[in-house]
Amino acid sequence: MLGSSHIVLSALAMTLIVGVRYLATSGLFAWLTEKVRPGLYGGMKPQIGREIRWSLYSTAIYGIPTGIVAWGWQNLGWTRIYTDWSALPLWYLPVSVFAYLFAHDTWFYWTHRWMHQPKWFRIAHAVHHESRPPTAWAAMSFHPIEALTGAFVIPLLVFIIPIHIAMLGLVLFIMTLMGVTNHMGWELFPRWLVHGGLGKGLITASHHQHHHARYTCNYGLYFRFWDRLCGTDKGLGEFPETGRHTMAKGSAIDPARSAHSGS
Ligand SMILES: [Zn+2]
Ligand SMILES: [Zn+2]
Repeated sequence: MLGSSHIVLSALAMTLIVGVRYLATSGLFAWLTEKVRPGLYGGMKPQIGREIRWSLYSTAIYGIPTGIVAWGWQNLGWTRIYTDWSALPLWYLPVSVFAYLFAHDTWFYWTHRWMHQPKWFRIAHAVHHESRPPTAWAAMSFHPIEALTGAFVIPLLVFIIPIHIAMLGLVLFIMTLMGVTNHMGWELFPRWLVHGGLGKGLITASHHQHHHARYTCNYGLYFRFWDRLCGTDKGLGEFPETGRHTMAKGSAIDPARSAHSGS
């Protein structure tokens, strides 16, 4: 019989995996930042400590539902995750990745805008904006309420949209990579991509930096679709080439009050 201890073990194991993934990825990009932009995080130790603490709380909030669903998938045949490459046509592989990213982006955009209402900003989202400017360690620096709004997206989508296990791995890889690089204080991607045709639709650090500087715009996660459609896209921010960057003038505004117009 399947003991309840197995489900607990799965939740614990997944929490550990999410935690190690966070520390490894953020650690790698923090190390890379020191190589590429020496001194960018200079004097930010107290902030980085807070970012790591909140992020480690978030690992349990993300890990537990994921571990439960992984256990149900293995033992009870839950979810629409498949492992046979020929189970669905090959063209469906990229379609499924796009569907997951778009669904996640849509959920993120609207919950993020909701959390910029003054009341909810103070309760749930101020923690994330305490990072001024954010670092590579801020990828999962969320208040537990905000972490909860994000933690159930992928575990619920696997019950709705069929996906090959490798494509699910790709979605999680993109989620992790963009979560870290969008906060690390410099642009990883080449200028031709960020400022070219692809950059008109995709979100990278230059776009999300502008959200952290101005608060009331650029709410999206992967795509600029909802921001453009709803008139909240205010273009890209700029990073200086060397040294610690400073926030744009908009950072001087009171986040709670400025959040009002962005709700
Ligand atoms: Zn952010
Ligand atoms: Zn925000």
